[in-house]
Amino acid sequence: MKIIEYLKFALITLGVFCLGFALMNLSAEIVSWSFLLLLMFAIFVAPKMTLTLPRSRFSVSFSDSIIFLSFLMFGGAAAIVLSAAEMLASCYYIQSKGKMTFSRLMIPTNTCIAVITTTSAYLAWTSFSQFFINTGLSHAHTNYLISVLGLLAFTQFIVSSLIVTFFYSIKDKTNFLETWKKDFFSSSMTQFVGAGLAGIIFKIINNADFLTAAIALLVLGIAYMSYRQSIGEINQAITIAEQAERDKAEVERIRAEQAEKYARELTLMLEKEEQTSVALRRSKEAFQHSAMHDTLTNRANFAGELRVLIEKCKKNPAASFFVLFLDISRFKNINDSLGHTIGDKVLIIVAKRLMRFIRPNDIVARLGGDEFAIIFNDLSSIKAAENLARNIHEKISETFSLSGNNIFIDLNIGLAPFEREYNNPEEILRDADIAMHYAKESGSGVAVFDKALRARFLDRVTLESDLRYAIERGELFMHYQPLIALKDGEIIGFEALLRWQHPTRGFVSPAQFIPIAEDSGLIIPMTSWILGQTTAQIAKWRALAPNYSDLIVSVNISGKHLTKESLVEDVQKSLKASNLPPSALKLEITESAAMENAEYTIKILNKLKELGVMLSIDDFGTGYSSLSYLHRLPFDTLKIDRSFVYSVGENGENSEILQTIISLAKNLKMRVIAEGIETENQLSLLQNLGCDYGQGYLMSKPLAVDVMEKLLYQKHNWFPHTETQDAFDDKPQNENLSVF
Ligand code: C2E
Ligand code: MG
Ligand code: MG
Repeated sequence: MKIIEYLKFALITLGVFCLGFALMNLSAEIVSWSFLLLLMFAIFVAPKMTLTLPRSRFSVSFSDSIIFLSFLMFGGAAAIVLSAAEMLASCYYIQSKGKMTFSRLMIPTNTCIAVITTTSAYLAWTSFSQFFINTGLSHAHTNYLISVLGLLAFTQFIVSSLIVTFFYSIKDKTNFLETWKKDFFSSSMTQFVGAGLAGIIFKIINNADFLTAAIALLVLGIAYMSYRQSIGEINQAITIAEQAERDKAEVERIRAEQAEKYARELTLMLEKEEQTSVALRRSKEAFQHSAMHDTLTNRANFAGELRVLIEKCKKNPAASFFVLFLDISRFKNINDSLGHTIGDKVLIIVAKRLMRFIRPNDIVARLGGDEFAIIFNDLSSIKAAENLARNIHEKISETFSLSGNNIFIDLNIGLAPFEREYNNPEEILRDADIAMHYAKESGSGVAVFDKALRARFLDRVTLESDLRYAIERGELFMHYQPLIALKDGEIIGFEALLRWQHPTRGFVSPAQFIPIAEDSGLIIPMTSWILGQTTAQIAKWRALAPNYSDLIVSVNISGKHLTKESLVEDVQKSLKASNLPPSALKLEITESAAMENAEYTIKILNKLKELGVMLSIDDFGTGYSSLSYLHRLPFDTLKIDRSFVYSVGENGENSEILQTIISLAKNLKMRVIAEGIETENQLSLLQNLGCDYGQGYLMSKPLAVDVMEKLLYQKHNWFPHTETQDAFDDKPQNENLSVF
């Protein structure tokens, strides 16, 4: 049993003892209407008048006043019995109203505490009564009354608060003094108020007439009612505030719970997302791996296999093998224009097509993004290897359709046979690579390596490094070839053509260095330099004479440059610097470059067109123009490739293609220009076919600035007149010798 239970028993025992003592000492006076009335009031009315003080376990009840009153009127024993009856009634009333539920033995304990408290007050009074009697105060005297009631209230307060504090501090395991201060100190006054009230009522009952008593009781009633109301309001306000606090705490709790829930969900989601992306990445890798690496080996393994084979063949003079280096040209364009997913699929198709040619002893590897290599073992001769390479080239170059796009794979293959001088895998791979580059340049698709190719390759490497410094060393300059109106022989402008005077090699042909400039990317800074030079030059020539004021300049733009946004800026910059109207600048783009990535070309050409510059499609007839693209590309001029002009016979044979191209251009609302006019026959045929402009050696070769300037000053007649033709030579050293 807990200590609190013992305490209850102790209190009940003491209470019962006190009550027994009181019952035995009841005087006969209690058998009266007034006591009965007081008892009824204590049992039925006083409990309902109880007010619970805000934030306290203490209640103000009229029990104190009734007990003190009965004490004054009927003596201590009556007060003890009345306190027991009142407390019992109060507890049951509170419980019946649901305001409080009393735990086991709590009602008898409370009743007994009330009994013990009243008994204590009674004992205190009996102990001190002699003292009061000695002071000579009579019962009716107010001072006597105050002294008695003060003593009773004080004792009652001390005893009841000590017992209850002791009880609760044990029950709730709290500090005794803290509990006492919190629950009882502030309410000590209520005991004295109760005593005061009892004194007033006692006085009224004993001394006043009926009317005074009634008024006094009415005043007391009103005071009680307003007190009750304000206590009620305070309690209500406190209840609302507490409820608001509880609601706020509840909202905070729910919010915290929700935040925690969201955080948990977010973590879960992130984890899931991470898992999904890891799974996706793995499946993509696995897909690519199974598409290629399961059947294809990688660069390192391939080199390992090559090393083994080189060692084997070095020991056995009869043994040999062949290495094929395969490269997909412009694969980047597929990725850029159709996306990497299509690009990946294209690689997978290439790998699958390659696998069809592989026999058990052969090895295929993917060396890099769009590079593959094959080792052919057991082939009888270089011829057999070359035939196989051509078959592969043919098969892989077959156009196929993928997600609605027609894909053409521009494949180049270099073939290198094993040579005894090879010591490591890199050497044979390098030679196969050299052969592949030659296949690309020559347009043959397949090339077999030989020593001459290596010398050529080294030469190209040196040329590339020389070209890097050509602009700053002043080795590059422009030649200008006149563009002539075929109806009257008037000069309408020039095509600017780049020249390179190499310090040791002499004149290097654009056909040789332009592809190197394109491959190395040097063409981009070179073109921006060319744009600056040519626009400034034409601006100068336009000022020479009124009939030159509309001269234009045509600048060749590499396909490489078309993929760069910087082209538009370069054009803008040069126009601004030269103060040349945009319509005086024409950009020539070869048909193959324009069609290679037509969608992108349309975009960039439209941007250029917005600047107001003219656009010309160059070398028309050599590429594979799609009519729909041709229609959408914003070209002003179409330049017929010189091979069509060249193939026209003495008597106008093979002129049908020329005719077709000219009418196509007219239908597309483009002006036509023919290049490579070398004979008068070609000139008159083109004139008859309605070709607008022409350029060719017949009128003039491309010429250096000073030579061209002299001709412009002389108002040169561009249509054939043989005496000056011999003087025209395209090569710089000869131009210096030209005499006009
Ligand atoms: P292209 O743009 O088609 O230039 C015309 C080429 O035909 C020039 O060769 C010119 O000299 C040549 N030509 C003109 N009339 C005749 C003729 O009657 N008979 C013969 N046989 N040829 C004639 P060139 O200057 O050697 O240039 C070759 C190519 O190099 C050019 O072809 C062009 O694609 C490229 N190129 C030249 N200069 C530049 C340049 O500044 N930038 C770029 N990106 N490419 C250039
Ligand atoms: Mg051109
Ligand atoms: Mg051309």
